[in-house]
Amino acid sequence: MKAKIGRSVLELVEGDITEQRVDAIVNAANEGLRGGGGVDGAIHRAGGPEIMAECRRIGRCPTGSAVITTGGQLPARHVIHAVGPVWRDGAHGEPNLLAGAYRSSLQLAEEHNLRTIAFPSISTGVYGYPIDRAARVALRTVADYLKGDTRVELVRFVLFGRSAYDVYVQALQELADRDEAIQLVS
Ligand code: ADP
Repeated sequence: MKAKIGRSVLELVEGDITEQRVDAIVNAANEGLRGGGGVDGAIHRAGGPEIMAECRRIGRCPTGSAVITTGGQLPARHVIHAVGPVWRDGAHGEPNLLAGAYRSSLQLAEEHNLRTIAFPSISTGVYGYPIDRAARVALRTVADYLKGDTRVELVRFVLFGRSAYDVYVQALQELADRDEAIQLVS
């Protein structure tokens, strides 16, 4: 599914983020940038040790923000490591922190002149954020960002598995129904 927002495109696909040929892929990282399971493990395995070496030099990244490294051997030139919140009950600032992870990633991409960026569904694996709620926050944050003055041309959400994809499709449809700046194109 695809939507036009301003001059940019927001796209949802089902797939593996490590295979994306974009300027940057986003990693769902932890504050210590130590790597781990899920999408984080997959990115470090596919990209090779250069990425972890840079993570070690950077050190830490607070929840709700992001840092950038090389993409190592990945088809993507860069990895943006964004730290989403661990879900507790929704009353501990989780939506703001999740929005912050997406917004910081987009701002970093902008600062580095990157035009195409792929996101996973941050926080919805080990961190336990309910995916329907996370999808609404993720899509609203990215859509609002793309409405502004940006040189980012493409934001692709790469959803791992059909059920995650379906949740994001539903959330994007609902968002587009209420916001005429979001034009569904396919
Ligand atoms: P978090 O700790 O932020 O919850 P996880 O990596 O555990 O991060 O999960 C985040 C999301 O990434 C989950 O929805 C998971 O299904 C998805 N995921 C796992 N591997 C990949 C991959 N190779 N490409 C895209 N998404 C992935």
